[in-house]
Amino acid sequence: MNRRSFLVLVLVVASLVPNGPATAGGSEPWIWPLPWHDIRQRFDKPESAYGPGHRGVDLAASVGDPVRAVAAGRVAFTGPVAGIPVVTIEHGRERSTYQPVSSPLKVGDSVAAGQEIGTLLGSPSHCAGSCLHLGRVVGKDDYLDPLELLSSGRYRLISPHGKPPAPPASGNGSLDRPVGGPVTSAFGMRVHPVTGVRKLHDGIDFGVSCGTPVHAAAAGTVVRRSRSAAYGKRIVIRHRPGLETSYNHLSRQSVSTGERVGRGTVIGRSGNTGLSTGCHLHFMVVKNGHAVNPSKFL
Ligand SMILES: [Zn+2]
Ligand SMILES: [Zn+2]
Repeated sequence: MNRRSFLVLVLVVASLVPNGPATAGGSEPWIWPLPWHDIRQRFDKPESAYGPGHRGVDLAASVGDPVRAVAAGRVAFTGPVAGIPVVTIEHGRERSTYQPVSSPLKVGDSVAAGQEIGTLLGSPSHCAGSCLHLGRVVGKDDYLDPLELLSSGRYRLISPHGKPPAPPASGNGSLDRPVGGPVTSAFGMRVHPVTGVRKLHDGIDFGVSCGTPVHAAAAGTVVRRSRSAAYGKRIVIRHRPGLETSYNHLSRQSVSTGERVGRGTVIGRSGNTGLSTGCHLHFMVVKNGHAVNPSKFL
């Protein structure tokens, strides 16, 4: 499902719900469930009810950290789901979910915004190390991005795949890293690992495993979704006239030509298509028609 049809679906779902409390103009903002705001993995909307995706955000945290309710509500569920202890709190028509969390609360208990609802467990967790998986659900099982309600606070992305990327820079026109992970090949002249020819490496390579979600480095419009012999499956985004970024060797392209994307939108998955020796992301910045060094923008 592309972003536009997803939005349409959300609007349809919203219009089917009878007038709930304070939902007419959108949902109430959430407060962060932890005192720090380090995101290890962003939300990735599943394309179908049982499709792959990431149905929430993962926040870095330590075992035993107190976890707080993101808004006032009522405990709707507490107990294991597929072996993972989960707490669900109902806030009008939306619910927040927290896992893996052990909680002394019982179904029906009311909680205040910011009230401690339990403590973080170490396992089972789908992060390397420990993290809090925070979900946002509306209706039966329609998952939304918790960051839409949390983004009033500053946050930074850290990666489960390697060195943490730098926090998003505040300068105008600056770009975010599209994935975590180490830079395995810099921009500049090199001998091509496949062709053996010495030529310009026109981007930088991030060493990430195949299937890693790839994020738009900034807001913009998708101007190309193509497949070529050299770059494989690629997405090109125009951020402003004269500034484009491209994402190459993808295994999956999740956005279409003409689509508007936000900073951080998942636009595809890393892969090994085209002239590539292994799974990685080849990330390019094109300024006024010329490939330039992406690290100057990150
Ligand atoms: Zn998660
Ligand atoms: Zn490359």
